[in-house]
Amino acid sequence: MDDDKFDAIVVGAGPAGSAAALTMAKAGLSVVLIERGDKPGAKNVMGGVLFREATEAVFGPLWGNAPLERYVIEQKLWLLGANSVVNAGYRTQDFESPPYNAFTVLRAHLDPWFAKQAEDAGAYLIPETQVTDLLSENGKITGVRTGREGDLFADVVIDAEGINAFAAVKAGLRKDFTMENAALAVKEVHALPAETINQRFNVRGDQGVTILLTGEFAHGMMGSGWIYTNRDTVSIGFGAIVSHMVETKIRPNDLIEELKAHPAVKPLLEGSEIKEYMAHLIPEVRFEELPRPYGDGYMLVGDAAGFVNFMYQEGSNLAIASGRMAGETAVAAKEKADFSARSLELYGRKLDDSFVMKDLHDLRKAPAFFRSHRQFFDVYPRILNEAARMFLTVDDTPKKVRRGEIFRMLRSKRPLWKIGRDMVDALRALW
Ligand SMILES: Cc1cc2nc3c(=O)[nH]c(=O)nc-3n(C[C@H](O)[C@H](O)[C@H](O)COP(=O)(O)OP(=O)(O)OC[C@H]3O[C@@H](n4cnc5c(N)ncnc54)[C@H](O)[C@@H]3O)c2cc1C
Repeated sequence: MDDDKFDAIVVGAGPAGSAAALTMAKAGLSVVLIERGDKPGAKNVMGGVLFREATEAVFGPLWGNAPLERYVIEQKLWLLGANSVVNAGYRTQDFESPPYNAFTVLRAHLDPWFAKQAEDAGAYLIPETQVTDLLSENGKITGVRTGREGDLFADVVIDAEGINAFAAVKAGLRKDFTMENAALAVKEVHALPAETINQRFNVRGDQGVTILLTGEFAHGMMGSGWIYTNRDTVSIGFGAIVSHMVETKIRPNDLIEELKAHPAVKPLLEGSEIKEYMAHLIPEVRFEELPRPYGDGYMLVGDAAGFVNFMYQEGSNLAIASGRMAGETAVAAKEKADFSARSLELYGRKLDDSFVMKDLHDLRKAPAFFRSHRQFFDVYPRILNEAARMFLTVDDTPKKVRRGEIFRMLRSKRPLWKIGRDMVDALRALW
């Protein structure tokens, strides 16, 4: 491509950008996909669980084609006490056969594959190139300014820069997300032989397990940790609202160390070698503060638009689905030769009709609820662990007396009326 005018420019080759580029290239549009990393995924971080359906709707069958780690057959929730754990989980044979439900992934392997699908469909990938500015004329976005390639022009720019979206913020398409609207997450990848992982997590072959963790180690912050099994590594991480991290003055790597030292966690990682340490922000934007994701000549997709469902730990599927919908909208706009905000409003309607906006709207009260009910992250896990210890300790105490002791312990940690009110608030906010 010699010309510097294209049908579409996509900024950022993460899941959202590659999904948008692939959708448009397949429909015959001339598409440039610009990535600042030396290759897609070089600096990208995710827990990470990839959800099959939304991903396959864009990239086709995954298992056997994409560089996946394991297919997830079991999901656990661990509520950690100081030296104990109360756990819940679900394991099923239904997730043990193709097409599977979800996969563990490492982004450094996955993102190049996503981008390659877009390239194979005809998109032109430009790596190692940062978009420094979005260009505009009479209020319409007309192209991008890059450090290496100079100015490039297009009928539409799809901004898939991820959470910081510096170019989009600079151009006034979105505000900066505040410390209240973002979580800081840190993650380590630990190498272990596949057979050791299988034994420790009670799986075989390519089966995988995810563990979501919260409790005392979170120091009352609105946050959670995770442990995911990969092929021959284990990912462990923790994320919490940035303002809570600042308030507690705990360094994220101290939190990870604390988590790794917990007696329930330590045996899972024993003898492992740390291969990678990463930190990244995750949008946790209040519904009413989400930016309008389109305007004259542009659309915002994925994290750049704040599309993360923090309650369900979902981001990649929202990114890919929004990338696809933005791509489809650009194709429709090209047919009408109209890239105005009125034409691109179709993207807004597609989002509203999809799980992306329906889920974010459904959970719109959750961020405020959890910010004002932080007892769910420390007090309740502590009470549950204490109650379990008392209930399961066998000694000379008659059971009826023990039940009374548990009831008194419960009341001493949190008055019953407050527990009742918390449960009603939870139902109102989350159901
Ligand atoms: C620690 C952590 C754990 C997570 N776990 C999960 C999980 O288990 N499951 C899940 O579904 N989601 C998870 N998420 C969320 C998920 O990773 C994101 O929602 C998803 O990656 C968003 O994709 P994206 O393409 O919008 O943005 P990104 O993945 O951030 O990609 C943006 C891309 O744009 C490039 N870029 C940025 N600025 C420029 C520029 N100016 N010029 C050129 N290129 C640029 C970047 O280098 C990057 O490649 C997690 C996130 C984090 C941080």
